[in-house]
Amino acid sequence: MIFYSDMHIHTTASTCCDSKVQTPENIIPIMIDKGYKKIGFTDHIWYSDEVRPSKFYSSQNGDRHLQLHKFIHSHKWEIEVLAGCEADMKAPGIFGITAELKDKLDYVTMATDHFHMKGFVMQPSEETPAGVARHMVAFFVSAAKSGLPDILAHPFFPYGYTDLYDAAVNSLSDAEIIDVFSIAASNNIGIEINKCYFPHPQYKRFFSLETPVRILTLAKSAGCKFTLGSDAHSPDGFKVLDKLQTFAKSLGLSEKDIHPLAKTG
Ligand SMILES: [Zn+2]
Ligand SMILES: [Zn+2]
Repeated sequence: MIFYSDMHIHTTASTCCDSKVQTPENIIPIMIDKGYKKIGFTDHIWYSDEVRPSKFYSSQNGDRHLQLHKFIHSHKWEIEVLAGCEADMKAPGIFGITAELKDKLDYVTMATDHFHMKGFVMQPSEETPAGVARHMVAFFVSAAKSGLPDILAHPFFPYGYTDLYDAAVNSLSDAEIIDVFSIAASNNIGIEINKCYFPHPQYKRFFSLETPVRILTLAKSAGCKFTLGSDAHSPDGFKVLDKLQTFAKSLGLSEKDIHPLAKTG
């Protein structure tokens, strides 16, 4: 095990979490049993003075995040527990989190590629590998320069366009990918190793594991530090952690590659 932390966990405060038992009181003992020393809750959020939420985000407006933060920090836990959020973007420059709310939470994980939210998140102008790649780069660069995220969730994983994942990433040169990740590295933003790389029934076609390996290897070359995220929406969602640890090991990561937020002790 390289990572003793899972910094991307959803609770019943996320609308898409359909497991009634995905509560801090149930999750913490599961993670202690697995040998984890730190966890972070990252429920979906849209909080903006300027841009109204989509229907999905309408009740995920920060109230539950602040309640959870208060609850977590008013109890003593056997392991370190943080309460953050998974923020989103509608388009480059349009974020569903503010600096003011970020200060009230422990950290912000930001998704730069929730393109499956078709009526809400801006879509690529061309549905081609190069078009999707340009779109991912534009969102990523905007987030990495915004000063808002501490961690970028599942970077360069085009939800809604997963059938183009391999080809989109292949359309970018190593130098282009390193340039983009260098922005995250220079702003001390963690890069997440997420469960999205493993087969899921939602994917129309499965892609090569070589694609996330290439992305993350180049992120490492750019000087990025990493976090691990099960993205669990139910207790079953933690089963993927063993595979994620093996995957992280295969990238040659060691203690020095762990982002400060994911460090324990
Ligand atoms: Zn996400
Ligand atoms: Zn998530």
